[in-house]
Amino acid sequence: MNRLQASMRDRASNNAREKRYFYKVGGPFKACRNCGTTTVDESGRVRYTSGFQVFRAYDPSWLGYTWHCYTCGAMDLACWAPDSAGMVEAELGHPPSRIPTPLRAKAKYELRKKLVALNGPSETAANEKKRLAGERARQIEELEAQLAKLETMAKGARV
Ligand SMILES: [Zn+2]
Repeated sequence: MNRLQASMRDRASNNAREKRYFYKVGGPFKACRNCGTTTVDESGRVRYTSGFQVFRAYDPSWLGYTWHCYTCGAMDLACWAPDSAGMVEAELGHPPSRIPTPLRAKAKYELRKKLVALNGPSETAANEKKRLAGERARQIEELEAQLAKLETMAKGARV
């Protein structure tokens, strides 16, 4: 392994580890309140042009913050502006109420797996049992026929 490969591997493992603890929420619609710059677009709405590196923690009680800006280091309400409905304050210090996309796919997969375990196997197992029973009956019939044949042959030989 050369130096470039080693550094790429480090970067990949760092990224993977980070993604387990937080996910990116910053973007043009909402970004860091502290270091982000805003403009007003032609329809009169506020849009951010910088400060996109805002991350949301999966488990704030463990990490110690809910929102965190990677660029300036601002945390929580200093970083993520509260909204008029109070949703940001309500979420502060709690795990995300809406499951983020990568976890949603996983949750869906697990639900589907459970569903298959509930319905699928029992039905297919019953079908398999029926099929095996039919095959066994056919084998028994075959063996009985062979036995009868052998018995007649034995009788013929004795006579
Ligand atoms: Zn910032």
